[in-house]
Amino acid sequence: MKQRLSNRVRNIAPSATMSIDAKTKSLMAGGKPVINMSVGEPDFDTPVAAAFAGVRAITSGKTRYTPAAGTLELRKAIAAKLMRENGLTYQPEQIVVSSGAKHSLFNTFLALCDEGDEVILPAPYWVSYPEQIRLSGATPVIVQATEATGYKLTPQLLAAAITPHTRALLLNSPNNPTGAVYTEQELRDLGEVLLDKEIYVVTDEIYEKLVYGVEQVSFAAVVPELMDRTLTVNGFSKAFAMTGWRLGYVAAPPDLAKAMASLQSHATGNPSSISQYAGLAALDDFNPAMVAEFHRRRNTLVHGLQAIPGVECLLPDGAFYVFPNVSHWFGYRASGQVIDSSTRFCELLLEQELVAAVPGDAFGSPQNIRLSYATSYENVEAAVSHLQRFISSLEA
Ligand code: PMP
Ligand code: GLU
Repeated sequence: MKQRLSNRVRNIAPSATMSIDAKTKSLMAGGKPVINMSVGEPDFDTPVAAAFAGVRAITSGKTRYTPAAGTLELRKAIAAKLMRENGLTYQPEQIVVSSGAKHSLFNTFLALCDEGDEVILPAPYWVSYPEQIRLSGATPVIVQATEATGYKLTPQLLAAAITPHTRALLLNSPNNPTGAVYTEQELRDLGEVLLDKEIYVVTDEIYEKLVYGVEQVSFAAVVPELMDRTLTVNGFSKAFAMTGWRLGYVAAPPDLAKAMASLQSHATGNPSSISQYAGLAALDDFNPAMVAEFHRRRNTLVHGLQAIPGVECLLPDGAFYVFPNVSHWFGYRASGQVIDSSTRFCELLLEQELVAAVPGDAFGSPQNIRLSYATSYENVEAAVSHLQRFISSLEA
């Protein structure tokens, strides 16, 4: 019998980052020595204190339901962190802890948006934003930020995208996939466009700790006038290398936080109690050596890529991605096959050189490819030399 799918899920595309990673891992399991530059997942271990706190939670019976929005203890610790590190005043009741920041974002769009609403989404964007916005019933209004502005949204572009239906603006700094980090002044200038508008700001700051020689600032700290219309999203996956624990959170105006807690109480209930206790310990156990190592890899990767002819690569200030423009090579052939898109470029790069990268097509930026350096330094060096060999093999 042919199954009928709901309209909601009929056109949903699988997450490109997750599916390329899965494909790469299955090639590796089959014995292929693939250099996996696809997924954004720190190759570091969970901080020891967090791991032990997780074990202790299991052995001491902290294995039961918690309040749906997370334990009060964890929400207090997150509120204290937001005050200490980000200069943001939130009460514990304004924090909703979920099963990963992806889940927090999903709750956010569901709580904010109705059919007919628009969410302004600067491109290049992380793959899950447009799908989550559509699932909430709203329409993503994609605004193209270009290389010329370091892939950042400008106040002019923002102002031009606003309509009477605009419900929210999505900001992501440091950015996935470009690594761009907005300065305090840039955030202030964007905020000023919104001062007299009824528009919310969803600011995804999950890569906040991963910046290299620049300062990361929280949107609501720079534009305090918009505090009651800002939702600050963050999580433990990147800063604490805890992707598998699934722990993220959103700090929101009280009514929205309450609504998201209710929504979550019906959908998933609380995030894992074990992960919550591990997260509580992680907050005091940040590892700056991880950032220093990412910094070193970024430099090697970017300098290597900049030396390859026909590859344009900006130096990103944050996250753990580089996003080179490879469109110079569109129309060339690899093993007799024409490269007609970033998707084809990545397929042929994987086939010929066993380097896994994510096509810019998935991030709304078809001229680029994304390479994650959340992998070993050796992989970073090997990826550069394989890419170099791939490019020099291309024929007009
Ligand atoms: N936001 C951005 C920009 C991301 O790259 C990711 C990727 N993991 C997430 C949110 C979600 O992270 P998680 O669900 O693992 O907390
Ligand atoms: N956010 C990471 C990435 O972009 C992990 C995969 C995902 O959740 O999309 O690669």
